[in-house]
Amino acid sequence: MNYQQISDLESTYNSGGVGRRPVALVRGKGARLWDSEGREYIDCAAAHGWANVGHSHPKITAAIQAQLETLVAAPEAAYNDQRALWMQELAQVLQGSLNWPDCHIQPSNSGTEAIEAALKLARYLTGKTKIISTVRGFHGRTMGALSVTWNPKYKESFEPLIPGVQHVAYNNIEAMSGLLDNQTAAVVVEIVQGEGGVHAGTTDYFQALRRLCDERGALLIVDEIQTGVGRTGKWLACEHHQLSPDIIALAKSIGGGLPMGVTAWPKRIGSFKAGIHGSTFGGNPLACAASRAVIQVVAEEKLVERAAYLGGWLLDELQALPSKQIREVRGLGLMIGLELKGKVTPVLQTLAERGVWALPAGLNVLRLLPPLVIDKTDLEQVVTVMKEVLSA
Ligand code: PLP
Repeated sequence: MNYQQISDLESTYNSGGVGRRPVALVRGKGARLWDSEGREYIDCAAAHGWANVGHSHPKITAAIQAQLETLVAAPEAAYNDQRALWMQELAQVLQGSLNWPDCHIQPSNSGTEAIEAALKLARYLTGKTKIISTVRGFHGRTMGALSVTWNPKYKESFEPLIPGVQHVAYNNIEAMSGLLDNQTAAVVVEIVQGEGGVHAGTTDYFQALRRLCDERGALLIVDEIQTGVGRTGKWLACEHHQLSPDIIALAKSIGGGLPMGVTAWPKRIGSFKAGIHGSTFGGNPLACAASRAVIQVVAEEKLVERAAYLGGWLLDELQALPSKQIREVRGLGLMIGLELKGKVTPVLQTLAERGVWALPAGLNVLRLLPPLVIDKTDLEQVVTVMKEVLSA
């Protein structure tokens, strides 16, 4: 099918809830994408951050194929070998990264569900309903996750949302201290705000936030849905700040391309009682097999170290670009934002015409989230194209 056929057909049925770019992506391999007309792109979006291990990775594909032929669905109401092994392997990573002695893992199917479970857990364990989130934070689009998301454009058509949620300036501990009290069930925060424009918090902020939550009896929920699985040059971005949260949410790349969400917490804070939370597809053996392969590939191919090295190099190169269109270049690992003085949409379009597929983060931030397997030569090409496009 060509672009016209695909876009006409999809437009006949889609809900209109998501704006689309005038391209039909039909194939991917590693850090390359192809559209319906055969045009090739260097992927700097990793499908909104879920392809950290790249597209069609042979080990992920093989793991999925093997599990497809064995057992696809096994509800959480029964035990399953793949789920058990996945939990053990993921727990090892989380416990090491977050300095947890042990952990509970609640699987689901998306980022928004992982946040939803975190909010339910915080309410359930503390008996309190007040939740604090941050200005520019993005946590998903179901009613609970949407309530802690900041941007009014996503929310105003759906109000009233859940009560008791307040937003406070990000990376500002005084503002947080003024709001966080002993009625607060939880604080929800990203280590680097992704959709909100690629803004990173500081170690001082996160350490002080940890102390405040402890002093005032609130749980600290960290949303690592975009920053996790090596993206920022650590397995989890919390490690940059020696931060040990009470609950973390993961999704996107943890499923290697299959839908998966994870909510995890150390046992000391408590657990759900049977029957109180769950999901038909959560922890299905197919997604667990894919996720086990992701954990293996990230280790074998040293993707965390790769993100740190390539991200540092790319940030230096982009910060050195001579362009009057750029206000600031910032980021952590392979999560980079170029804040432009004008709108980002036309720039994204021109980049795509030159074979670079990038993302927006708000109206004027150009966001780069390439698969961590990307070659340095591809990134050199990205820098060359950026230079041409942004100095034009
Ligand atoms: N949290 C963060 C930080 C995200 O970036 C996203 C998605 O972009 C979500 C939550 C929601 O995840 P999902 O789209 O899988 O529901």
